[in-house]
Amino acid sequence: MHPLHRRAFVFDAHCDTLAWTLPGPQQRDLRHWGQVGHLDLPRMEAGGINGQIFACFPGENNLTAAPTAAALRRLEGLYRLLEQAPDRLTLVRTATDLAGLSPDGPIGAVLGLEGAEALDGSLELLYTFFRLGVRVLGLAWNGRNAACDGVAVGDRYGLTPFGRDLVTACNELGIVLDVSHLNAAGIEDVLTLSAQPVIASHSLARAVFDHRRNLSDAQLRGIAAAGGVIGATFVAEFMAAAPDEATLDHLLAHIEHMLAVAGPAHVGLGSDYDGATICRGLESGEKYPVLTDAMLARGYPEDVICGILGENFRRVFVRVLPP
Ligand SMILES: [Zn+2]
Repeated sequence: MHPLHRRAFVFDAHCDTLAWTLPGPQQRDLRHWGQVGHLDLPRMEAGGINGQIFACFPGENNLTAAPTAAALRRLEGLYRLLEQAPDRLTLVRTATDLAGLSPDGPIGAVLGLEGAEALDGSLELLYTFFRLGVRVLGLAWNGRNAACDGVAVGDRYGLTPFGRDLVTACNELGIVLDVSHLNAAGIEDVLTLSAQPVIASHSLARAVFDHRRNLSDAQLRGIAAAGGVIGATFVAEFMAAAPDEATLDHLLAHIEHMLAVAGPAHVGLGSDYDGATICRGLESGEKYPVLTDAMLARGYPEDVICGILGENFRRVFVRVLPP
């Protein structure tokens, strides 16, 4: 393990790995190092990842007729893995669970919903998903749902009354709100309404590369001012017009811009492993130390690196999750 990872708490704020637990030809056993995909338990262990948000994605472009069921199936994938590997993976439900994670212990799994589609316009289902362990709510994927509009819809509308109710309910329950994928009007509403810090689990900086999924400087500042954290994502498409040319250096340019605009206490990492094409150099989970080495080589102070690797996200989750 990387010597700094021995001391640092490493937290990855987004992956789509649960999509690969669904029955079918693509199904993977995440207890073993996969020949395909980006992330599994051995590669997380090799990369020194201590905490991971596992997104439950309710389906793309309404191709899935039943988004709630789609999210539940992914959730079942994580529960099965927790049963199969109890000494290697543990579910984080509380701030105490999170504070107790150590580099030598099991990896902490945080469950997230990626899109309020899964809630079917119902607050009751938010409570149900909370009981099942969901601790992050990404209000939007790219499209429109009962709560809000995603980045593909445009910026005309902010949160619906249901979306506003969700913000209040998440604050009360101890669910972290995630604004990645949300349109600009929605992000503004969430920042105004939320009494708790919010995160962008997997985004980059629009001033560095103009992509609809990247955040403006005003949004970076707004999230930071509310005590939140932006997870710099490894998605090649958000870094360069020719995604196959995106490298670790592109990612570092975004991180450096975020450090300058949002401040070192408000930058983290959210790979999007198993959900996108990843920039060269960080192709899969075991490569995490390559990023750590690159930050050390650029002369970032160790406390700044530890913040980026996971301490910043840990601070937000310890504050927001139930005690
Ligand atoms: Zn996403």
